[in-house]
Amino acid sequence: MKWINKYFDEVDNFPRPNWENIYEYVEAHLKDEEQNKLWCGIANAWMQKLKSKLSDDYQIHESDNYILVTSESDRYVTLLQGFLERSLRRILSTLKGIASDEGYGKYVVIVFTDVDDYYSYMSYYYPEDGVFGLSSGVYLNNGYGHFVFPHQEVAYAESVVAHEMTHSLLSHLPIPLWLNEGMAVTIEDMITGSAPLRMDKELFARHNAFWGEKEIQEFWSGDAFYRPDEGQALSYHLAQFAVKSLSSDYETFVRFVNKANYDDSGKSAAIEIFGGDLGELIARFCGDGDWSPKPQEWNKESLTDPKAPFRFSVKLIPLLYRK
Ligand SMILES: [Zn+2]
Repeated sequence: MKWINKYFDEVDNFPRPNWENIYEYVEAHLKDEEQNKLWCGIANAWMQKLKSKLSDDYQIHESDNYILVTSESDRYVTLLQGFLERSLRRILSTLKGIASDEGYGKYVVIVFTDVDDYYSYMSYYYPEDGVFGLSSGVYLNNGYGHFVFPHQEVAYAESVVAHEMTHSLLSHLPIPLWLNEGMAVTIEDMITGSAPLRMDKELFARHNAFWGEKEIQEFWSGDAFYRPDEGQALSYHLAQFAVKSLSSDYETFVRFVNKANYDDSGKSAAIEIFGGDLGELIARFCGDGDWSPKPQEWNKESLTDPKAPFRFSVKLIPLLYRK
């Protein structure tokens, strides 16, 4: 695997693979190799390089579907590996007919013990302002998609993994963000119990006060999920409710998800599969109004905005090859 060495740059003290060139090299010279094995080897070579930049207590731990790099204790490694493998199986079986494990290579998970290392690593993906808060972990969908965490309690890491893993297993579908997030939160709660769906008077009032005809278009286009105000949390909550309402008959829901497109936020798929407009879902919260998705009013850039690298997660093949 010596060929790979020239495809790394060092930026902010970490090896940064040039995935476009690596992918091209594989296409040109290694097309006949067994691809899964090949990409597992590539991921391992990358992690060896990364490990050489970290303190000696970091180790590479491989399980059936994951390569985990961490300096955490054996006990932490065993717990996290077990959780990773179990949740992969569970998401695939729960979202049967929707989630897919396609792609080559193992999933890469890096846990940084030192928070400065975490920031240095992440800065490459947030070059503009570097303001991303001390996030609880992300799935970076840039090149070879991978999970990155700062050190945290294993239980907390689990809810992030369940959520982000769901995105990664939905990445082959051109679904609208509300549907993507709605399923991710639903699965996260199912696996870890961290996001129970509740609706009480106070929440109901907050929804009612917040959503207007302009705001709801941001919900459908996906922009509302990036709002700096409470619109963000309300968007996740509304998406979770929408998924719950739409999935009461699972087979029908599967057909809907496989038809829904972010172009119109799933509007035409809903008419075809459910025989109704998505706006009716909102009317249950906010009363009568014009809640239907209106794609012609959206900011088109927000649909393909690259500033959110983990918006649609891909296991291996860079997004640019998968369009
Ligand atoms: Zn999400």
